[in-house]
Amino acid sequence: MLQEGSGLSGIRCLVGFASGKGGVGRSTVLVNLGVMLAEKGAKVGLLDADLEDPGLLPLLGIQGRPEIEEGKIFPFEEYGVKALSLDFLLEGSSPSPSELPQEPSFLQEKLQTVAWGELEYLLIELPPGRGTITRLATQAFPFAGIVLVMTPQTSAVPALGRTAELYRGLKIPIVGVIENMSFLLCPYCLKGIEVFGHGLGRMMSLRLKAAHLGEIPIDPGLRLSGERGEVLVALEPRSPIAEVFKQVADNLVERFKKP
Ligand code: ADP
Repeated sequence: MLQEGSGLSGIRCLVGFASGKGGVGRSTVLVNLGVMLAEKGAKVGLLDADLEDPGLLPLLGIQGRPEIEEGKIFPFEEYGVKALSLDFLLEGSSPSPSELPQEPSFLQEKLQTVAWGELEYLLIELPPGRGTITRLATQAFPFAGIVLVMTPQTSAVPALGRTAELYRGLKIPIVGVIENMSFLLCPYCLKGIEVFGHGLGRMMSLRLKAAHLGEIPIDPGLRLSGERGEVLVALEPRSPIAEVFKQVADNLVERFKKP
């Protein structure tokens, strides 16, 4: 559990999901992985801290406003996970991340207003790159580790490397790398087509001395379900894509095993 007195003492592991650039599937991977962890019996919370492009709640079909009672914000609950966006915690503060108070205590206090209850994992979607919110969040939240999500294009590597450097510089462990959009299974010949290349996730994990958590194929169902606000691994729990997420979830759990 996190430090007593931090207000987050009911949370065992805070895990940040980061990437070098946007559009690599951070939200999609985080949501399906979070729901898979919950299906395996873990208590899971998801927080969208990407203020510039918040997209996590719609992927769970969540609209509207959270309930607030006596100063406490109650996260939404869908697909067995609790979920919230940092937007709601910052209402009344400056709309521009660069104008937010820079002291770590500011975001810490905001996160403490959420009635998360007991959680095994709080997965936090960080903005891509190294902007203000990323810097504030990394100073404010006691991350147990960072998961990097990337696509296997050569052009993705420099930005990912710079993002990784930021976390390493802050002594926050990078626990693993997930390669998303690794290949497309041809429905006719059943061979994998490596649309964006393949294997750079493994290479980055070796370079960063982090675990290679898995390779997620391009699946049109992931895009479609996301647009409908539905979570594919919950809709099709016996599908090959759910099996892939199961394996990634197992690999992630392994990284945070209790000693
Ligand atoms: P990010 O959070 O990194 O900006 P998103 O999760 O919003 O990225 O994904 C960007 C787009 O790519 C979305 O339309 C999403 O549905 C799609 N997408 C992400 N991962 C996959 C995948 N493995 N297969 C098919 N589409 C994907």
